[in-house]
Amino acid sequence: MLLWGSCTEKSPISDNPNDSDPPGEVYVLPVVVHVMHNGEEIGTGTNLSVERIERQIEILNEDYRRKEGTRGYNEHPDGGDTRIEFVLARQDPDGNPTNGIVRHKLVIEDLPENIPNTEYEQYGYFSFWDSERYINIWTAPYPEDFANLLLGKATGPDSDLPGDSLFQKPFDGGAEGIIINWAHFGESDLEGGHNLGRTLTHEMGHYLGLLHTWGTNECETNDYCEDTPAVDSVVRNSEPYIGCNGEEVMIANYMNYTPDRVMNVFTNDQIDRMHYVLENSPRRTSLLTSPGKDEVK
Ligand SMILES: [Zn+2]
Repeated sequence: MLLWGSCTEKSPISDNPNDSDPPGEVYVLPVVVHVMHNGEEIGTGTNLSVERIERQIEILNEDYRRKEGTRGYNEHPDGGDTRIEFVLARQDPDGNPTNGIVRHKLVIEDLPENIPNTEYEQYGYFSFWDSERYINIWTAPYPEDFANLLLGKATGPDSDLPGDSLFQKPFDGGAEGIIINWAHFGESDLEGGHNLGRTLTHEMGHYLGLLHTWGTNECETNDYCEDTPAVDSVVRNSEPYIGCNGEEVMIANYMNYTPDRVMNVFTNDQIDRMHYVLENSPRRTSLLTSPGKDEVK
């Protein structure tokens, strides 16, 4: 929006592009997708197409920005726009141009014996970018019968937030990030409730400091968010039901195991936790100034 001054000949003109932005900072985070595949052609099986990866990042942004006209929109009184956005990296760790996608044929026998037995360390041995500057996402080439059984996992931040000890933590200086079963990455015609790209929305929530809405399966402290109704066991249902204290469970929350089509809410308290992590946690706050977001000049 251009703001014209009035009356004087040399009216000041604001050409500040931020004038028409909604109030509040937008946090922009660079991601790299490491496609760990079985050697298929690009666009076949575990070697996911560029289009499917780009659409997944678009879905992530629809959900985190609560974009109108998308599945990520909600009008829940406690729901909010996280003001967090994600971009596929434009610059790799060496300063070269990239589309933010790395492909690696996974041959697990190639792992040296000294690599710790976690998937983060194993995939990270083959492909990992500095987590000070990038959010690492690996698509895992699990067998097809893992679909709907093993969806994804994520390491959590280092923080002084309540519930911090519940996160999976990386080894000191080790690989960290998000692992998504390739079958659940992006949109697909996969059978079952997890084919609309919300597995990444959920796992990114963990990476940025959110717990499951049921916490440690008790009504008292729960997920340390006042505006997510307490519930004392895993939430999978797609129909409303009653949790702790006679309150209706928020089945639409992204931090449940409910089907993708049901989810569309991050609450304001959840958003506060993510903002706190982005402003305070090592290897999260540094993402905000990462050159990985910028085009190579
Ligand atoms: Zn989870």
